[in-house]
Amino acid sequence: MQADSTKQNLVGLSQPVLETFFADLGEKPFRARQLMQWIHQRGADGFDVMTDMSKSLRAQLNEVAEIALPQAVSEQRSVDGTVKWLFAAGGGQAIETVFIPEPGRGTLCISSQVGCALNCAFCATGAQGFNRNLTSAEIVGQVCYANRVLPPRASGDPAVSNVVFMGMGEPLANYRSLIPALEILLSDYAYGLSRRRITVSTSGIVPQLKRLGDDCNVSLAVSLHAPNDELRSRLVPINSMHPIAELLQACWAYAAKRANRYITFEYVMLKGINDSLQHAEQLAALLRDKPAKINLIPFNPFSGSDFERSSVATIEHFQRRLRDLGLIATTRKTRGDDINAACGQLAGKVSDRIRVRLGDRKRRVAAS
Ligand code: SAH
Ligand code: SF4
Repeated sequence: MQADSTKQNLVGLSQPVLETFFADLGEKPFRARQLMQWIHQRGADGFDVMTDMSKSLRAQLNEVAEIALPQAVSEQRSVDGTVKWLFAAGGGQAIETVFIPEPGRGTLCISSQVGCALNCAFCATGAQGFNRNLTSAEIVGQVCYANRVLPPRASGDPAVSNVVFMGMGEPLANYRSLIPALEILLSDYAYGLSRRRITVSTSGIVPQLKRLGDDCNVSLAVSLHAPNDELRSRLVPINSMHPIAELLQACWAYAAKRANRYITFEYVMLKGINDSLQHAEQLAALLRDKPAKINLIPFNPFSGSDFERSSVATIEHFQRRLRDLGLIATTRKTRGDDINAACGQLAGKVSDRIRVRLGDRKRRVAAS
């Protein structure tokens, strides 16, 4: 971000916070709505264009505030139309954002942290370690940037129709920035996305999951990846703190708040690790008769990873068994892997502050 630390960046402020900001300037609450439209819908990158505000207010805004968006360090385009940006995150670090075009929709996969502390065994971001949380401006800024540089959809609507928090980081570990970012994505004065079109993906930080259900009940994806605690704790270490039973209980409570809207359970297919038919049966037993959909993700390798992707036939058998047992199961199409933009491949540039080393990960998995 090119932020001037003496000025207030308005990109990540939700409507109530902006209303307070304007009240402090002696202005009416409707200024907040005007400003949000200028930034998030009308592409303003400064205050001078805001001709529906008085000259003196614009001068005041120039003095105390700014509109600072993430700065793209690089842009890569896949043969399948997927676009990946690397955004500077200060201190030589960077986060990644991926745009996935499909007929009638455009999905933006955004990051919530510089790295991730949760250290899942099969994830490139986890292998990088953790540096810091993104601000709400940096989270929303990814969407703002994409809509500004990508052509609108055929309908004339902005390019981004769906947002998924499946880039770098664990969104629920950055709750304080996540909530204002979600409020801005949902706001009619900004992106106007419905709760259905925003998906928060989590590896299962249960206390924040419960809070999210009350604060901002958007669509939820849960990274399950294993059907029993012994295996899941090896693959997704947070499971030792919040085991499967506790996680699922929180999931069903979350779903109940939105009239049993489905929760997606992500399950990365790792050859010889979690992909047997017995695993499929265990998984079905956990999720049967619940508002659950299973999304199988073929493992995407990255440099230094220990795992292999399950074969196409194994994934098909696994999916069929789940369906035979009455579950809704789909397999995620791998997109953008020629530019390392597929799930779990986003590594950005992270200088680890908590000293998680790849060697530790290898020992943990090997010891199992
Ligand atoms: N931290 C959140 C969101 C980011 S990861 C979470 O874990 O849910 C988004 C999804 O990609 C998760 O389901 C994650 O488990 C999955 N993933 C991570 N590494 C992967 C890899 N190498 N191949 C396929 N999927 C992966
Ligand atoms: Fe973090 Fe999600 Fe990667 Fe696990 S899978 S290390 S929670 S980003």
